[in-house]
Amino acid sequence: MKEKDKRILKANFLDEITEKSREKISSCYQCYRCTNGCPMAESMDIYPHKIMRYILLGERKKVLCSGAIWACLMCNTCSIRCPNDIDVAHVFETLRRIAIKDGVAANDNLWEFERLFLESIKNYGRLYELATILHYKLEKKEFFKDTVMGIKMMLKARMGILPHSIKDKRHIKGVFEKIEKGRSEV
Ligand code: SF4
Ligand code: SF4
Repeated sequence: MKEKDKRILKANFLDEITEKSREKISSCYQCYRCTNGCPMAESMDIYPHKIMRYILLGERKKVLCSGAIWACLMCNTCSIRCPNDIDVAHVFETLRRIAIKDGVAANDNLWEFERLFLESIKNYGRLYELATILHYKLEKKEFFKDTVMGIKMMLKARMGILPHSIKDKRHIKGVFEKIEKGRSEV
């Protein structure tokens, strides 16, 4: 590949992530504060500050195929600590969406479970464990895995058959709709 083409590719990745996350990634000056506060840093194959660096360098494959973006707990510690107000957790979430879309995700099981988990909160106001697990198993075609454990949990009343009810479900739905509206679609 020619040098000029390589440069265009690099610039495109930074532009793409900046546009989709709406975070000013170019203002990152590698202070390491995100990594220093990250509870998962030691389990990551690439530290959070390095993910930011690789975005700046246009290392698309390295970033999107990394396990780090899936090890992230979305705890927001890095976002709060960043002196440049970069919402690093949101950048990670954006990277996950792109990795899924491109079919290069290192761990899409987690993404699938997270999506169903949030869908349950949106619909019921609280997690409806049984429906979420059944839905997940149907999608993954893992019908009998953990069945015994699931039955034991139900017998011990750790997992209900019916969803829990909360008073103001519409309010929760409204919060989700606001967030979805505010964040760019990938
Ligand atoms: S949001 Fe993710 S990257 Fe940021 S501190 Fe938490 S676990 Fe680490
Ligand atoms: S805390 Fe912010 S400025 Fe510092 S390395 Fe992380 S993203 Fe970059």
